[in-house]
Formats: sequence, C-alpha cells, structure tokens
Amino acid sequence: MSARLLAGEEPAAKLLESLKKDIEGLKAKGVPPHLVAVQVGDSPAAKVYIGQQRKSCEDVGIEYEVRQFPETITQKELLAAIHGLNKEKAVTGVIMMMPMPKGIDARQLQVRISPAKDVEGMHPANMGRLVYGEMGVCPCTARGALELFLSSGETLKGKEIVIVGHSEIVGKPLALMMLASQMESATPTVCHIATKDLAFHTKRADVLFVAVGKAGLIKGDMVKQGAIVIDIGINRVPMLDAAGKPVLNEKGKPKQKIVGDVDFDGAKERASLISPVPGGVGPMTTAMLIRNTVQCAQLAAAGK
Ligand code: NAD
Repeated sequence: MSARLLAGEEPAAKLLESLKKDIEGLKAKGVPPHLVAVQVGDSPAAKVYIGQQRKSCEDVGIEYEVRQFPETITQKELLAAIHGLNKEKAVTGVIMMMPMPKGIDARQLQVRISPAKDVEGMHPANMGRLVYGEMGVCPCTARGALELFLSSGETLKGKEIVIVGHSEIVGKPLALMMLASQMESATPTVCHIATKDLAFHTKRADVLFVAVGKAGLIKGDMVKQGAIVIDIGINRVPMLDAAGKPVLNEKGKPKQKIVGDVDFDGAKERASLISPVPGGVGPMTTAMLIRNTVQCAQLAAAGK
C-alpha cells in the first residue's frame, strides 16, 4: 500500500477564507481583531515567528502589533505590562513570543493573560474547558492536528487513537479533544518518554498522532496497515546526498532540511493516509491561531 497524502495547505486556506467574513463582521461592529505579540529581547527565533504571524494576520485583515521590551526587564514589570494589555479595550488578543530570556518565568506570564485574550489557548481556564468537552479557544497545534485529521472526512467515533508525546501544548490537549463528545469520542492512548513498549501501542493505532521532536522515532513497521498517521514533529536534520554524505551550502556548511518524527518513506507503505512535514500540521496550526484570534475578538464584541 502507498498512502495518500493528507496535506494541510488546502484545509487551512479554506478555513482562513471562511474567517475573513467573521473579521469583516467584527470590524463592522467596531471591534476589529487586534493581536499584540509580546517580545522580550531580540531572539532570532522569535523574529522568524513574528514575521510569519504578521503575514498570516495581515493576509486576513487582522491588525498585528509587536510590543518589544528590553532583555533587562523584570518579571514584575512584564506582569504589569500584561495587566495593561488585559485592560486595553482595543487589544483583543495577546501572544507571548518564545523563547523568553533567562530569569523570566514564561509560564507565570502566560497564565496572567486574560483567558478572553489568550489566543494560544494555554490559560488554565481555557485548558479546563477542554476537560468539560468545550472546544472553544484551544491550543493551536493540538487543534490543528485534529482538524487536519477531520479534513480527511474520517470520524473519530470508536477509533483506537495513539498519541505519542504528552506535552501541555500538544499531546495532553489532543487526548482531551479525542474525548470531547460523549457520543462521538474515540479511545485515546497517550505514550511518552517512559512508555515501555512504544511499538506495541503504535501498532494498534487506527489513528497515530506523533509530537515528540525526534526524527525517525516512528519506523514503518510500527504503523498498523491502513492507519492514518498525523506527524506533528518538526526536526532539522542534515541533507544527505545519494552516497549518504552531507550536502554542503556555498559557505561549506551542511545544508539542513525539515522532517517530522515519522520515517515517512517506511510509514507510507503501511498507512492509508499520512501527513507530510513540512506542509501538514504546520499550516493548520497557523490557521488555528487566526481562528482563536477571531474567537477572542468575538468574545470582546459580546462584552465578555
Ligand atoms: P515537548 O518536548 O514538550 O514534549 C515531547 C514529548 O515527547 C514528551 O511528552 C516526551 O515524554 C515525549 N518523548 C520524548 N522522547 C520520547 C520517546 N523516545 N518515545 C516516546 N515519547 C517520547 O515537545 P512539544 O512542544 O510537544 O513538541 C513536539 C514536537 O512537535 C516538536 O518537534 C515540535 O517542534 C513540534 N511542534 C510542531 C508544531 C507545528 O505547528 N507543526 C507546533 C508545536 C510543536
């Protein structure tokens, strides 16, 4: 069997197109979505994310603003800045840019963003709603992976789902999403670093979600025949030529490429559907950030 590709660009573009109407509606009501990114210091990684987020927001007509603070800022001063953003009526969403400099407790800041402006869906109040099966503003990558699966036309009901990775941002919220509806829910198993026999679990999966950050962790023979594989991992690995030697760039440094956690060539021989990396969950994650931003602005428009 050779799997069909489950790409994220098309469903992400459809979703973004549908959100444009909501954004116009919010503007007409006098509540234009306005996302503020909080950047501390000048990390190159944060700069890349900011560039991507700005483009995604501007493409759909959302105002995107960066509030930059010096590396010398204290935790207390940052907390005060977040408090200020929570109070600013024109600001409908707030996102913290990672990584934060040493000495700043990013999680403490994250939980102080108002749940109504928490576009990343990481506030305990928003996470807690997931426990009750409410799929409001939820963590973008987990929701993006779920929506990518659903874009295949498949349903979750009764399926054996295996999630590899149990982070707060992906694995745990994804497991809760699998249980979100009493009538339609699946049977999730969550594996992690201490799981004794990973292959035992992955081989039972009708749907396999992988979010670890280790290239090639899931080999082809760990995938059930006909399974649906959603690869969330992002790893930079050296590009190799046909002889297995690193390909060098013009500066003589090894060229890199991005791969997921799943050995794509091996897994595609057994899976029925498989998401690529890049071009799978990534575009859906960005679309979910935009959707959360719209949902937060809708809360503001409703006076919540
Ligand atoms: P994390 O480091 O917080 O968590 C990693 C998880 O993998 C942990 O639960 C750990 O127990 C588990 N793990 C580690 N080694 C394992 C092993 N050998 N067997 C089984 N489980 C193992 O990572 P994260 O933030 O959840 O990110 C995971 C991956 O997803 C990364 O590659 C990250 O870059 C990627 N990611 C992608 C997107 C996207 O938009 N596509 C967004 C966020 C994260």
